[in-house]
Amino acid sequence: MGYVDEVLARVAKQNPEQAEFKQAVEEVLGSLRPVIERDEEKYRKQAILERLTTPDRQILFRVAWVDDAGQTQVNNAYRVQFNNAIGPYKGGLRLHPSVDLSIIKFLGFEQIFKNALTGLPIGGGKGGCDFDPKGKSDREIMAFCQSFMTELAKYIGADMDVPAGDIGTGAREIGYLFGQYKRLKGVYEGVLTGKGLEYGGSLVRTEATGYGLLYLVDELLKDHAQSLRGKTVTVSGAGNVAIYAIKKAQELGAKVVTCSDSTGWVYDPAGIDVALLQEVKEVKRARLTEYVAKRASSKYYEGHGVWSVKTDIALPCATQNELHLADAKQLVENGVLAVAEGANMPTTLEATKYLQEHGVLFVPGKAANAGGVAVSALEMSQNSERLSWTFEQTDEKLKEIMQKIYQNIKQAAKEYGFEDDFVLGANIAGFKKVAAAMEAQGI
Ligand code: GLU
Repeated sequence: MGYVDEVLARVAKQNPEQAEFKQAVEEVLGSLRPVIERDEEKYRKQAILERLTTPDRQILFRVAWVDDAGQTQVNNAYRVQFNNAIGPYKGGLRLHPSVDLSIIKFLGFEQIFKNALTGLPIGGGKGGCDFDPKGKSDREIMAFCQSFMTELAKYIGADMDVPAGDIGTGAREIGYLFGQYKRLKGVYEGVLTGKGLEYGGSLVRTEATGYGLLYLVDELLKDHAQSLRGKTVTVSGAGNVAIYAIKKAQELGAKVVTCSDSTGWVYDPAGIDVALLQEVKEVKRARLTEYVAKRASSKYYEGHGVWSVKTDIALPCATQNELHLADAKQLVENGVLAVAEGANMPTTLEATKYLQEHGVLFVPGKAANAGGVAVSALEMSQNSERLSWTFEQTDEKLKEIMQKIYQNIKQAAKEYGFEDDFVLGANIAGFKKVAAAMEAQGI
């Protein structure tokens, strides 16, 4: 058995119930075969793949908080510090009922490579909780965040582990978390990113993931003698990533005709009205049915269906495993040109393979959505130098980073003879940097 297969078997045996984590490891290690085969002895001797697939540290903790009815609620929380070879652990906090150790480990594992691809000194980590922020009052959110941070504060720090937002964790939650950290430790430090602009946040952080996704897609299309101008784009999701992806796609001349939430999706052939979408989702925290009620050109459909709409470019921006093989087949049948992941691992392994085999330009999340964490790293830089950069400066840096990521993943794939296989390119480029740092730092 080759080294990659040995480690895959080991991961499967040690994590029998962690489907998402195994899926992420399979995807990454599968594409590293050509790299490992060139240097198998060296990597095996250093147990690079065993070390890379085993988190440095996993923290599991209880969060108890009191709801508005006076009832004490208990949730399960996690912080997985996966790898700090190239910088402090860095990655978001997901608050969603689906959160378990498998999901946090898959996200933390992906984050190692994503963060390496940004070219900035940040390691990989992730955390979260099975708490559902939906329908909770502001006071309940604050009570939860304070209790969550009371435990988490023991394990994080500006040069050690720097959490941020993810699904369910936005500016409001980061504010409550930051306040509690400061109260407990008595120091102001850049321990979280995605902070409010009044207290050390960075301009462009809110827009970064969505904007970055489009900067990368723009570069991808230019490289293939195409452009976003006049293209039809379908987006899933209606959260922070989706909203700013839609906004930037429209600015670059595309027409975005869909978005979705956990219960249904919107088709708006006139083009999504972003201001209205922001009002419904960000201000009112309401469902998409409210968007449709105020927008005559749009229609609401229950369930899963965004990928049945004919499109040139598909941008899954909702959550993991939301684009299945049947969706990939439909997209190909409808002539899709490119798929770029705004979410983390939204496309299943079978769907990815199908898209790639049918000539679709496919960019995985760890490259395509790296703009969010990249601007988080820029926020860390600004906090360290006690300065704030302008919107233009930061946006320009983000654009450069995304263009560089595209060039790097393209080059890495080409070097191994796989032209335009961006899954391979992203995994190889990310791995090589982290593996070299691990090797340099010894055991
Ligand atoms: N949650 C985002 C991601 O998946 C951002 C993490 C960060 O800014 O640290 O990359």
